[in-house]
Amino acid sequence: MIMADCIFCKIADKEIPGKIIHEDDLCIAFLDLSQATVGHTLVIPKKHYDSMLTADPEIIAHVFKVAQVLANRIKERFNASGCNVLTNAGEAAGQTVHHFHVHVIPRYDENDGLKISFVDHSKDVDLDNIYQSLMK
Ligand code: 5GP
Ligand code: ZN
Repeated sequence: MIMADCIFCKIADKEIPGKIIHEDDLCIAFLDLSQATVGHTLVIPKKHYDSMLTADPEIIAHVFKVAQVLANRIKERFNASGCNVLTNAGEAAGQTVHHFHVHVIPRYDENDGLKISFVDHSKDVDLDNIYQSLMK
């Protein structure tokens, strides 16, 4: 259940402190140390899974349900105007802690210091080819 040397297992197990804002049988949510924006929260299952790619689908569903409730609470308490809810899977995707977690990041305005952007490659891509590869 608990992975040695996993910082999030240790937070879930209360071995090291975290500012926990939600706890139930399956998951906890706590403030991210780095606060990408004010209120930035992580929702994690108590049980260790390396990432969303290998987590139990029922657990993923539960973690995202909790993320929705907290996103609304955080948005209301801090008077935010939006929210990013996301999970990084794998180092190439920016995952640094290899225990599945969902970021809840309230957004205030376009100048709130966080940039998440998708570069537009639409002119150069072969959408048909990509589609065929996925549908084979
Ligand atoms: P990732 O880049 O893996 O998607 O996100 C990991 C997040 O965990 C980062 O935003 C980082 O600030 C946060 N984090 C790393 N170590 C700790 C910790 O010990 N306590 C808390 N509260 N957050 C942590
Ligand atoms: Zn863990």
